Amino acid sequence: MGDCIFCKIIEGELPSKKVYEDDHVLAFHDIQPAAPIHVLIIPKKHFASLDAAGEEDWAIVGQTQRAAQNIARELGVAESGYRVVTNCGSNAGQVVHHLHYHLLAGAKLAPLGV
Ligand code: IMP
Repeated sequence: MGDCIFCKIIEGELPSKKVYEDDHVLAFHDIQPAAPIHVLIIPKKHFASLDAAGEEDWAIVGQTQRAAQNIARELGVAESGYRVVTNCGSNAGQVVHHLHYHLLAGAKLAPLGV
């Protein structure tokens, strides 16, 4: 999709440190980690955010979240705990407008809030 950096990563036009890939989902390490483990999990289909998901997108949203569960297990953080969060729009601080889930783990995380 145009100049979307995550679409370019999907297409291999930009590099990434991949941790998981299937037909519909890609996951890679965040370039500026906010936790010892910080993985981004994205659908290969471009849509801007959770808010932009259409009826036809809920299956892929579910697959993306299921990938988060699998990745947490693969990385050995399922038992110690992890956070999966998606920023949606400007007040949430969304910078990249291609739906992505942040998987954060590897330390005691700060509480959510303002
Ligand atoms: P947002 O604020 O939820 O939109 O988060 C976007 C995330 O993408 C940030 O955590 C960035 O560090 C991350 N990011 C931006 N460009 C790249 C990249 O090229 N590779 C990996 N992560 C990136």
